[in-house]
Order: sequence, then C-alpha cells, then structure tokens
Amino acid sequence: MLISLLPQKLTETLLNINGFDKEAFEKVHASGEQITSIRLNPSKPFNAQDTTYNVPWSQYGFYLNERPSFTFDPLFHAGCYYVQEASSMFLEQALKQTLDLSKPLKVLDLCAAPGGKSTHIHSLISDDSLLVSNEVIRSRANILKDNIIKWGCENVVVTNNDPKGFSKLENYFDLIVVDAPCSGSGLFRRDNEAITEWSEENVELCSQRQQRILADVWPALKKNGILIYSTCSYSKEEDEDIVNWMMKEFAIDYSPLTIHPEWGIVDTGGGYRFWPHKLNGEGLFLSVFQKKDGEEETDIRGKNKIERVNKKEIEVINKWIKKDNRVFVKNGETIYCWPGKLANDLEFLLQQLHVIYSGVLLGEVVREKLIPEHSLAMSTILNDPVGRVELNYEQAIIYLQRKDLQIETGSKGWQLVTYKDQPLGWVNILLNRVNNYYPKSLRILKDR
Ligand code: SAM
Repeated sequence: MLISLLPQKLTETLLNINGFDKEAFEKVHASGEQITSIRLNPSKPFNAQDTTYNVPWSQYGFYLNERPSFTFDPLFHAGCYYVQEASSMFLEQALKQTLDLSKPLKVLDLCAAPGGKSTHIHSLISDDSLLVSNEVIRSRANILKDNIIKWGCENVVVTNNDPKGFSKLENYFDLIVVDAPCSGSGLFRRDNEAITEWSEENVELCSQRQQRILADVWPALKKNGILIYSTCSYSKEEDEDIVNWMMKEFAIDYSPLTIHPEWGIVDTGGGYRFWPHKLNGEGLFLSVFQKKDGEEETDIRGKNKIERVNKKEIEVINKWIKKDNRVFVKNGETIYCWPGKLANDLEFLLQQLHVIYSGVLLGEVVREKLIPEHSLAMSTILNDPVGRVELNYEQAIIYLQRKDLQIETGSKGWQLVTYKDQPLGWVNILLNRVNNYYPKSLRILKDR
C-alpha cells in the first residue's frame, strides 16, 4: 500500500498517543505484509500442522506461515478453527483476568457478527454459562448464526436486536462485550477500502454512536459485572475519549490488566492499544470496567409459552443425542434442544428479545423418524452410534460443493459424513443414490 493513501488527517491526530511512531507506522503499512492467524476450536480438536507459533495472548490462537485457501479446507467448514485477526484474541486476557470462568455466567456479545469474539467467548466460558450473541443488522445476524452453528455451540442464543432492546434486561448479565462499530482505521493494512471511506466526520459519527450503544446496554449489566469495550480504530475520539466519557457518565471502576512487556501492547492508561509496528497483529483498542451500581440479581420469571415435545418425539430424539440434562422445545414443527440448566433463562429471553436461534436445532420428527438438521451434525451433542461415512479430500470437497457424491458403503439411511473424523453434514443413502444434504446456502460455489 502506498503511504500516501494513509489519511494525513488521521496520522496527525495520532502523534501524541502513547506508542505511535509515524515512521514505523507508515513503513508497516507500506510493506504489504499480511499476517494470517487462526483460533482453534477446543470442542473439535484436530492435528493442526501448518501453524507456526502461538499468538502470545491467546491459548487457542496460532499464526500461519501463509494464507491458505480456507474455502478448500474441509476442516474450516467443519468448524475446527476460526480465521481471526490476532490482536482481537486479546479479549481472552480480559475474560481470564477479570472473571471466574469456571462459574455459570450470563454473557452478552452485543455487536457480534460475524462471530469472531462470540466463538472465542464460547471456548472460554463453562458449559452451564449462557452467551447471548447479538447483531443488529439482520443479514449479518444470519452469518453470525451460521458461525455459531458451525462452532458446535449449545449454550448460545443468537438475537437480532438494537442495543436499546437490552435496556429492559436490567441487571441480567455478568459480562457485556461491546466490540463497537467504528471508523476501522486499525484494519487499513488489510482493507484498502476502509482507507478511502475514512473521514474525520465519520470518526465523530462513530464516537457518538458508540456512546449511544453503551448508554443503551448499560442497565443490562449487573452490579460488579464486567464491561469490555473494544474498537479497531486508532482515533482517540473512539477509544480513550469514550473511556473518559464512561468514567464520567457511569458508576464504574476501570479494571487494569496484566500485560507482558514482550507482547508489545501499549497501556495508555485508558486502555490497551495494539500498534501493527509493535506486534504481529492489526490495530485494536480494548478497555475493561466493572460496574459499581445496580443490583446483583434479576427476576427472570415470565409466562410459560413454550411448547414442549411429546413422549414419542423424545424417544425418537434420544437415539440421536448424548444423554444429559436437556429439554426439547418446539417452534412450529422444528425441534430445538436446550441445556436443562439454562431452560428458564432461554424461555425468559425468548419473551424479551428477537431470538433467531437458540441451543441446537435438531430437526423435525416425521412419522416417528427424525429428519436431522445440519446444526445437529455440527453440534457436539450428537450421539456417536448414528452411522458415519469417512470421506477422502476429493469427496469432501464434492460434498461441500453440494454435488452428487459417489460413496462405497453398505450402510443405508441417514449417515454423518466426516473428513479426518470431523463431521461435515448429512447424507441420506438410498438404494441407488446418495442424497447430499449439505445446506445450499453454505455450499462452496467456486471450482478448484
Ligand atoms: N465482534 C465481531 C467479531 O468479532 O466478529 C465484529 C463486530 S464489528 C466490529 C461491529 C458490529 O456492530 C458489526 O457487525 C455491525 O453490523 C454492528 N453494528 C453496526 N451498527 C450498530 C449499532 N448501531 N448498534 C449495534 N451494533 C451495530
């Protein structure tokens, strides 16, 4: 990238910020260097060979030597890893250093699409914790839902609400993450379009919107709850200035984190800055707070409107999933499965929010048989005795392209297809053909 493309108006405003070095900053943007990192899914372990070294602040994060074609890696579609920018993984430190993650927590990821932070949070919280993963833009909420399903989550609710919609959930969450929409300068190195779209006016608009979002969601945090605020903007107006505004506006304590000097992260007193000339990652700002007012408990009683499944349906479903404390609920003809311990909360949230996905969508029971959904194949609750067919690489790609698949197997009926033992989805094997049930909306459109 040409240095001349970097908005001079931006670099001028950064001159007094801790850690900014104009020459080094311009050099790193001119270098054209692209850093690729992935975060592994602890629920779907596999032998990751191409990784080089750990992202220093994340247990599951790894750098890759080069950017492979993720589209043509079946394990990417199996949800074994998420391609995520390394600086963003610092969220892990904020969680680990401020919360007891072994406890059941209620977590809100307010600006969650496409799901980088939500899938990360899911890997860090306990199974009896609940994550509400929200995205205000409907089309992006659907992408978020697909990524939550792919990650194999059971204790996640995907919602499509404006931040205002959370004000009424007073004192409900132990942790709220606001990864705010911002002017995006931190991603200039990988996204030239963001450079042309950058303006001082937009920074101002973003900063006002960030304040609105934080004010809207604030009541939903319980007393002593943790709020994590982050942006991928370098502008002080969206970072330290927002922190100062919050300290004035809310009853809040700033929570400092421990950072190792060799990580290259800069502590500005108001938060942590990631400068691409100081570490292997893009621009990020992150700050952590603890709420000092409000209540520690919330009342989640509500009217019971949920339709449960009948005994016969439970018998059918039970053959497909691992035994545990689970409840099954119906939405029209489709059946969802929820962790038993979270059922009251999920019921409450269904009444309060625009929920577009919850727990695991299992499928439909038709004539005493389950027609399984893709989400069940991706989940970790699937029972192993359901037949499996292992595919080789070529077959796996054909399957993911939703093309006609030839497989030699004596088995019939619904089978889980796997690649390197990782589930990819369903096929239904009939007498003389194999029906490919990979979802049309997810299929690989490109040819290799
Ligand atoms: N946390 C995500 C991740 O790690 O994958 C990235 C989130 S991105 C920085 C900010 C998100 O905020 C976008 O998905 C955007 O659609 C959403 N957004 C835009 N306007 C918003 C608003 N007014 N209130 C809340 N979210 C908004």
